[in-house]
Amino acid sequence: GFNCGIIGLPNVGKSTIFNALTRAKADSANYPFCTIDPNVGIVNVPDDRLDFIAEHIKPKKVTPTTIEFVDIAGLVKGASKGEGLGNQFLSNIRQVDAVAHVVRCFEDENIVHVNGRVDPKNDIEIINTELLLADLEVLERAIVKVEKNAKSGNKELKEKAKVLKDIYNRASLGVMLKNIVNEDEKELLKEYNLLTLKPMMYVLNVDEEGLYEDNDYVKAVKEIAEKENARVVKICGKIEAELTELDEEEAKQFLKEMGLERSGLEYMIMEGYKLLSLITFFTAGEKEVKAWTIKEGTPAVKAAGKIHSDIERGFIRAEVVDFETFKEYKSMQKIKELGKLRLEGKEYIVKDGDIIYFRFNV
Ligand code: GDP
Repeated sequence: GFNCGIIGLPNVGKSTIFNALTRAKADSANYPFCTIDPNVGIVNVPDDRLDFIAEHIKPKKVTPTTIEFVDIAGLVKGASKGEGLGNQFLSNIRQVDAVAHVVRCFEDENIVHVNGRVDPKNDIEIINTELLLADLEVLERAIVKVEKNAKSGNKELKEKAKVLKDIYNRASLGVMLKNIVNEDEKELLKEYNLLTLKPMMYVLNVDEEGLYEDNDYVKAVKEIAEKENARVVKICGKIEAELTELDEEEAKQFLKEMGLERSGLEYMIMEGYKLLSLITFFTAGEKEVKAWTIKEGTPAVKAAGKIHSDIERGFIRAEVVDFETFKEYKSMQKIKELGKLRLEGKEYIVKDGDIIYFRFNV
């Protein structure tokens, strides 16, 4: 599956947030969860469209799509130089598709801040610098290698070395790669699995008041995020921890009393999903209404393969309706009768929100 790594300085609330993710009840409709490895958690992605479809089709079972969160604790200043368990952590980040960077935006005298005071701007700089230093090191090695191989006179490799050097020079000014490379360069860099090229969001761990009104810490991070074109989500670790102690109904009531529509955790999951540039299609039968995750640009026949290889192999056609149309008519039967169900072939590119019925030969 696709995953999102949780990083941040010590004592910012990573474990609290991760534990809230893992403690969410396995069978709750909101976020069923199962654990493969203590540092990996699979969570359901909340989706209003799925809820709407299920509400009208009334299937026996509703299955949301999922993403994985990976707890990557222990990133400290100097990690790129092997400080702490530095290199181990950096290589763990290398494995994930996207990064959720938790930043402490709450004050609490009892909880020590690693640098003595709450200063999200400084915290972010420390982490981003470590990530960038690690990337620069990888680039340095890559340049040496490509230049060596280019000695035989290979023009392509010469050009590659030139581009890599140019990227290196720009990045060494202290800017994350994702903010300075174009699409071609991104493609070229793919093989290196660079850290600052990964999609990233800031998760701001605030106190309760901070949820309703941005405190100065939040404002400072939002300014940074805007420059970096990064997304931001606010969460209160303490409340999330409390929410996991409640059953589903109680949790709903609790959120309602606080005037919140969803938990911070849910927003975090939804943002994490968006970061991955994934899209969702639905299958909607009487037995089960289910959300499926695919990459943007996936053809219908491959989407079918997600469900079962037999459906991909025996693919005849896809019967498709977009979510907006379903929202209007609220019934697959009606949509069919009105001729609103489109017939699409193997090559049809599935769109976000499509509801699909696959016809196939067994
Ligand atoms: P980590 O080192 O980043 O994993 O941080 P932890 O999750 O262990 O949190 C560090 C300390 O901060 C713990 O004592 C938590 O209980 C506390 N903490 C986490 N989130 C919040 C929060 O939103 N508000 C307050 N006041 N304390 C928090």
